Amino acid sequence: MSNLQKKVLITGATRGIGKSMAETLFSQNYKIIGTATSDEGVEILNSKGFLGIKLDLNNADSLNHISEKLKEEHKDISILINNAGITKDNIVLRMSDDEWGDVINIHLNGMFKLCKTVLKGMIKSRWGRVINITSASASLGNRGQSNYAAAKAGVEAFSKSLSKEVGPRGITVNCVAPGFIETDMTSYIDEKAKEELIKQIPLGRFGKPEEISQIIEFLVSDQSSYITGQTIHVNGGLYM
Ligand code: NAP
Repeated sequence: MSNLQKKVLITGATRGIGKSMAETLFSQNYKIIGTATSDEGVEILNSKGFLGIKLDLNNADSLNHISEKLKEEHKDISILINNAGITKDNIVLRMSDDEWGDVINIHLNGMFKLCKTVLKGMIKSRWGRVINITSASASLGNRGQSNYAAAKAGVEAFSKSLSKEVGPRGITVNCVAPGFIETDMTSYIDEKAKEELIKQIPLGRFGKPEEISQIIEFLVSDQSSYITGQTIHVNGGLYM
């Protein structure tokens, strides 16, 4: 199958890493379905030549609706990239049930539901790629990020299990775990804190979204055909 025929579903394609991935894969002739949480986001995705769809991973109705729509109209998705994510940082003693639940829900429940939605089509065509974006926090732990680290570690464990279930059907399941990448998600970090963090990164800087997309481009391709159940760390040496 040429790239031209391969359909990719990317959650959170509006900004940051997801946007970079969508643009990179589109430039390689993949068909892109990207999700956004707002109508404006959907319009921007459509204006780039992608198919934009509105999805709130923290809303069961939205997720169920999109899941049914994808099953009916896009049975031929061969690549799923679960990228959308949020942080709601707090120390455990102060963390609210919502801060815990929203982060677990978006990363774990949303990913589970979307995997289930697209796997049937991949099994039928005996080819598929599932890539889940996790985080160095899953391996390192991070003060104030117990919800996020737990969710991302859960995604990594889920991915290993799924890779064992669907490997015999020609489907690979891998995670990409970024370190600190320059996006809206890290824009709240003030300059002083950033300087301290950079001291812990052997390559001496935050990464760029493109440095994640380049790995994604490889992982969705046939060149990665013997890699499954892995977490690829892209973090400038922050975690090794
Ligand atoms: P970002 O710039 O903040 O973008 C987040 C994306 O997720 C947006 O496209 C957003 O859509 C979407 N999103 C947020 N809430 C959503 C919801 N409830 N339902 C559906 N989509 C939702 O983040 P990023 O830095 O690119 O992060 C992308 C992935 O990389 C995440 O999984 C993140 O955990 C992971 N990661 C990032 C870093 C980093 O340093 N940046 C490090 C490690 C891992 P809207 O634009 O419509 O809101």
